[in-house]
Amino acid sequence: MAKNIQAIRGMNDYLPEGTVLWQRIEEILKNVLTSYGYSEIRLPIVEQTTLFKRALGEVIDVVKKEMYSFEDRNGDSLALRPEGTASCVRAGIEHNLLYNQAQRLWYIGPMFRHERPQKGRYRQFHQLGAEVFGQQGPDIDAELIMLTAREWRALGVSEYVSLELNSIGSLNARVRYCEALVSFLTRHMDHLDENCRRLLYTNPIRVLDTKNADIQALLNDAPLLTDYLDDGSLKHFSGLCKFLKLAGIPYLVNPRLVRGLDYYNRTVFEWVTSSLGAQGTVCAGGRYDGLVKQLGGRATPAVGFAIGLERLVLLVQAVNSECAITLRVDAYLIAAGDDVQGAAMLLAERVRDALPSLRLMTNYGGGSFKKQFARANTYGARVALVLGKREAEAKQVVVKDLATGNQETLAQDGVVARLISILG
Ligand code: ATP
Ligand code: MG
Repeated sequence: MAKNIQAIRGMNDYLPEGTVLWQRIEEILKNVLTSYGYSEIRLPIVEQTTLFKRALGEVIDVVKKEMYSFEDRNGDSLALRPEGTASCVRAGIEHNLLYNQAQRLWYIGPMFRHERPQKGRYRQFHQLGAEVFGQQGPDIDAELIMLTAREWRALGVSEYVSLELNSIGSLNARVRYCEALVSFLTRHMDHLDENCRRLLYTNPIRVLDTKNADIQALLNDAPLLTDYLDDGSLKHFSGLCKFLKLAGIPYLVNPRLVRGLDYYNRTVFEWVTSSLGAQGTVCAGGRYDGLVKQLGGRATPAVGFAIGLERLVLLVQAVNSECAITLRVDAYLIAAGDDVQGAAMLLAERVRDALPSLRLMTNYGGGSFKKQFARANTYGARVALVLGKREAEAKQVVVKDLATGNQETLAQDGVVARLISILG
């Protein structure tokens, strides 16, 4: 027998019982973004490999080890996007969205990274991201954080996430800091693991966010990035902290929160949770004033964040046992066999014309009335519409309120009014 074909490791199917929750969460997230005046941008999933090499750097793991890149039929090197910011900036430059105007954008969709799959870490995962271009003050950084805080409130997870914040200053400040850090780490070379040794030569600042507990302990004695920050960045950061205090958003300054790329500067923030085990970062954001220029545009300040949707969905499920939402319908249409199936389908169409927001499911595949009523229950229907042969001929239908057991036979023209009176 031929072997069954399975999905690619780390790339999930999202089954019907789960997609209802995804839809609810996405709707809540989008409504909050809309309420702040952010607009959606839709971007391709495949881009030229060079875009990510130029935007993220050739040495960073996401590009070097994790990116799905391939040659297409023309021999062009293409990549499945590992993140959304680079595409967003590319599109902004290409369509002239960025200059002399402030843009507040968001996007949602799948991202691809060849990582080791585990809970909260997949090879195809989904992000909802927001990017603001053309604003340099700390006020907009604060707005993005306030917006995310509102998302958590709307989803009922605020109590389970906390905000970590840092400033990584200007590129110059980081170059000076890295000299001090490398000299410290070189003195403790035998305490470093293989990964940190590699980073020491390629991207030393990333050693600061190592997950190795022994090295974390060693870092307690390392020089502090904060002591190397330039005045402009310090002022920006204290401005941001002031806005957050004003908004009543608690935060923890984490001096080890960093980004490893040159074009990142000033604000970095993460929303973390302890409810998900090792993959605890639900949302990561920060300022990247250097990227637009790096990708060939005119220097434009920018700041954004990305929410990892799988982690957010896991969090919502972990903290809220009532969110096992499955698809429910309002009404289930039961029909007595093949002779009336066509009439039943037409009746359902007419009801949907009149009540577009009604969730009405028609029975298919026949079955006894008992079986069909059982199906109505499975889908949580409040009302059963029953079309027997006699009713079909007389242009009538039986409407049964499944909560009270009351039923009556009505002219089909009266069914809409009856549904409204039962369902409210
Ligand atoms: P991590 O340190 O967990 O690998 P990251 O720094 O690589 O995260 P970012 O590139 O900042 O992550 O992406 C933003 C968010 O996207 C992360 O905070 C996380 O919620 C989510 N994310 C990143 N990689 C994955 C993945 N492989 N699977 C699921 N979610 C992911
Ligand atoms: Mg990662």
